[in-house]
Amino acid sequence: MKQKTFNDLGLSEEVLKALAEMGFESPTPIQRVALPPALAGHDVIGLAQTGTGKTAAFGIPLIEAAKEGNRKDPSALVLVPTRELAIQVCTEISRIGRHKGIVAAAVYGGQPITTQFRALKAGVDVVVGTPGRVMDHMRRKTLVLRNIRSVVLDEADEMLNMGFIEDMETILAEVPKERRTMLFSATMPAPILRLSGKYMTDPETVRADANNPVVAKISQVFYEVRSEDRTRALMRLLEVEDFSRVLVFCATRKDVDDLSAELQKAGYGAAGLHGDYPQELRDETMKRFRNGNTPVLVATDVAARGLDVQDVSHVVNYSLPQNAETHVHRIGRTGRAGKSGVAITLVSPREKSRLRLIERLTRSTIRQAPIPTKDDVKRARQQGTIDALAAAIATGSLDQHKKVVDALASRYSLEDIAAAAIRLMAGDMVVEDIAEVRQRTRGERPVSGGQVVKLRVGLGRKDGISVSDLVKSIAVQGRIPGRDIGKIALFDRHSFVEVPAHLARQVVTSMNQSRFPGKKIQVA
Ligand code: AMP
Repeated sequence: MKQKTFNDLGLSEEVLKALAEMGFESPTPIQRVALPPALAGHDVIGLAQTGTGKTAAFGIPLIEAAKEGNRKDPSALVLVPTRELAIQVCTEISRIGRHKGIVAAAVYGGQPITTQFRALKAGVDVVVGTPGRVMDHMRRKTLVLRNIRSVVLDEADEMLNMGFIEDMETILAEVPKERRTMLFSATMPAPILRLSGKYMTDPETVRADANNPVVAKISQVFYEVRSEDRTRALMRLLEVEDFSRVLVFCATRKDVDDLSAELQKAGYGAAGLHGDYPQELRDETMKRFRNGNTPVLVATDVAARGLDVQDVSHVVNYSLPQNAETHVHRIGRTGRAGKSGVAITLVSPREKSRLRLIERLTRSTIRQAPIPTKDDVKRARQQGTIDALAAAIATGSLDQHKKVVDALASRYSLEDIAAAAIRLMAGDMVVEDIAEVRQRTRGERPVSGGQVVKLRVGLGRKDGISVSDLVKSIAVQGRIPGRDIGKIALFDRHSFVEVPAHLARQVVTSMNQSRFPGKKIQVA
């Protein structure tokens, strides 16, 4: 079949420009089959899972159908099962529609309803929401449906599983009859089929070819780095990779402690997991990994055994696995439930032949990739900042902040004001050289210049504390930046921590007032 491009689909210049900026070169299989009928205004049932590009498959037609400047009441409504998906879909629609001036807003439970009133009142084209909250807004008349021309039920089977079937039906009965309806679902259980029969007109059913998924389930990549550069290389990868949850495997408990501490110091939401920690702490760590509070989990093979977490987007072999079987076990943590996953292996030049052996034994292909350059990291940071700002604009409620802009506008240009605000939010965007880091760590003086003092902390390994916990408590409770914390030595019942002399008193005072699960921390 001829490989269609987005240009063949008759899309507007504005949308084509946005897609190009997003790096979408050609339509995915579901987009190829869903876009033509959807753009022609037909009802469409798309059988597709997350990861197939389904959001753009319904998002592009909504954006093309929305009339610019006609923003008093929304023209499209997208129903989704969860708050996370609402934000994700809203962000993607805002990005695709940005040159057409399309405004999308996400409404979901858990966020103050008043914040959402303001966003809706300011005028939006596309509302993306969870059924419960959408109904809430309908009852309060803060969401007016009379201009709705397109309705999308995204992940309809998930909405059914979550008990939203009646809400979906109520909403569908309230939107104007002269509309087009699109339904996307991974499966078609009977209640969803019935719903489509009742509320859709002559729908065309399309599906992503199951034998030809967009991404192979697990894509395996390796990066060749010197052992001493592994941590910095991992941090660069974490900056450029689009991840949800990352599971990093280390060979030893000490590596787990050291790496999780380093990642925390650098500001990543990371935690360590190994057999030395008490069960209570391990359960808490797992809970935080599962609910997304700590998206990076550093673990030993033993600790990760039996760990069943959905949606691990990346597995990292920070240390090369002992054998092929362990490798298969590790990478099997990602790519679950039909989702795609990435398995990253960091190898030193000496370890490369062992990796090739694992590749042969597991009959897989592990492709080599270069470590992201400083420019790659800068670009990723810029994109992250752009996405975060687009999401903040889409969600609205900026009245207070606009007052600050007004106060400055007579003295400075809007461009300068915005750039300064972004700098405060995103920092200076400086990326360290890997070679620079290597030189600096060889000289070994992590604490930023000046005198350091060694503090004794009356808690140790047997109390269930880890290096990463210590860094976290000192940074948070001691109120000093993680990067100012120097060497940490952990013993069974006590530990030593280096901090800059001028901050020592502050750390001692604040730490002595705080507790580590159930225990008072004694620092001297
Ligand atoms: P979705 O299934 O909508 O969650 O999309 C999965 C991922 O694929 C998202 O990160 C999209 O931004 C991305 N994506 C969607 N369409 C395309 C495309 N045509 N080319 C490249 N990436 C895409």
